[in-house]
Amino acid sequence: MSGKGSDNTNSSEVRKDRVVTTVEGLPINEPFATQRVGQNGPLLMQDSSLIELLAHFNRERIPERNPHAHGSGAFGYFEVTDDITDICGSAMFSEIGKKTRCLTRFSTVGGEKGSADTARDPRGFSTKFYTEEGNLDWVYNNTPIFFIRDPAKFPHFIHTQKRNPQTNTKDANMFWDFLTTPENQVCIHQVMILFSDRGTPANYRQMNGYSGHTYKWSNKKGDWYYVQVHIKSNQGIKNLTNEEAVKIAGEDPDYCQKDLFENIEKGNAPTWSVYIQTMTEQESKRLPFSVFDLTKVWPHKQFPLRRVGKLVLNENPQNYFAQVEQAAFAPSNTVPYQEASADPVLQSRLFAYSDAHRYRLGPNFNQIPVNCPYASKFFHPAIRDGPMNVNGNFGAEPNYLATTNQYQFVQKDRPIQQHQEVWTGPATPFHWATSPGDADYVQARDLYRKVLAAQPGQQKNLAHNVGVHVANARPDIQKRVFEMFARVDKQLATDIKSECDAASSELRSKL
Ligand code: NDP
Repeated sequence: MSGKGSDNTNSSEVRKDRVVTTVEGLPINEPFATQRVGQNGPLLMQDSSLIELLAHFNRERIPERNPHAHGSGAFGYFEVTDDITDICGSAMFSEIGKKTRCLTRFSTVGGEKGSADTARDPRGFSTKFYTEEGNLDWVYNNTPIFFIRDPAKFPHFIHTQKRNPQTNTKDANMFWDFLTTPENQVCIHQVMILFSDRGTPANYRQMNGYSGHTYKWSNKKGDWYYVQVHIKSNQGIKNLTNEEAVKIAGEDPDYCQKDLFENIEKGNAPTWSVYIQTMTEQESKRLPFSVFDLTKVWPHKQFPLRRVGKLVLNENPQNYFAQVEQAAFAPSNTVPYQEASADPVLQSRLFAYSDAHRYRLGPNFNQIPVNCPYASKFFHPAIRDGPMNVNGNFGAEPNYLATTNQYQFVQKDRPIQQHQEVWTGPATPFHWATSPGDADYVQARDLYRKVLAAQPGQQKNLAHNVGVHVANARPDIQKRVFEMFARVDKQLATDIKSECDAASSELRSKL
């Protein structure tokens, strides 16, 4: 799957033992020659080596992810540092010191595959753990919350960050129009983090990862807990100012990719400490918000962090396309004792991620080496055939399972949804737009008045970062932005307006 090789362009070694061949293995004398009629005549159709080269070139690109198209990745391991077997029975946590191989991919969200690393955007932080119980994917972000909690809004929201259908440019009107609509203002908490300096991390090594969603973990006795995971950088947090991020985007758009690769290459492997917050069902009933609300954090004081382990990324991929572009992360990839909660956005991701991979990579994407559950074993002979089936397709095994046939299967006692919530009720259309009163603004206000206030310059930077962005929007939309932030804090709205006015007059002077 990985391992150091010397065949890369960074090596100065001249290799004399490699014969260039067609894809069928026929040696090619001169790879740059084409078969022609005479010296200067037209090409010959029979030049299959040229035709193959051109035809394959036309098919090199696979659909990029939508969203999270642009990313970087590295291999490493997760090591258990503290016992949490009272919370989770997964084999990866079974003993202190146990190591599980993993792959982490960092990404931006809205930009295309070639976009800049330092864009103001949340960062994806996905880790695939190759466990003996199957592959487990933690598909997280660098923010502890998200913009929406109604999954049907996700494509709409992402579209507002893509290109305007007519102008084909990014459009501040689309972005702020959507977010300031009353039924979407639940975004305010995440918008505050996005426009704080944490919205432009200096690199992937110096940022945190958060599950954001609530998960359900259980121990081997059947006790279960709501859990949130926090992956905290041991390099410390480092962010860019808006101006630094814009400058780097222009001068060195692959800045974070280079930073990650070069640090790992020189032995400076980044590490993160992994923590969990836990909550019982009883505690969840006393919360002032729903435990399934992706726009809220669990206050640290009430739900302290408990350390679990260490994530180490110490191995660069040998081939970006094979090991990072083709890596297929999905929250539905889970292991015994770790389950999704009823958070509706998480529930919809359980479908959407694997579906995206079936589209991008084909239905046999799990056979691509980086996605294979190599520490476990894939056996399901009814999942068969399909394009690019390369694993032997279960040979002569019957293509169905039945307890009567000679290939009886062994049933494992995997706990699923045991001892957990029971849901009943009629099917209802539910739009989780607004909470009663001010509830969706409380944590955003805490962030502004307690957390950012304690760090010199952070409140001002937030106002500046919003102001210069919203200066690109229409005046009627700007007004809605000021009104939305005024619900967090009046001074913040005033500061945003001054920053916006200053940026607008600068924009006008450039016309
Ligand atoms: P705490 O004071 O215990 O937590 C505040 C947390 O804010 C810190 O631990 C840190 O999280 C994070 N933080 C620090 N600086 C910044 C910054 N410049 N921008 C964004 N986040 C920052 O209080 P609470 O747990 O009660 O949370 C208060 C507010 O802090 C929340 O409303 C939320 O906006 C924010 N927050 C809370 C988190 C949580 O899980 N409770 C996580 C992150 C932010 P970290 O140590 O993870 O870097």
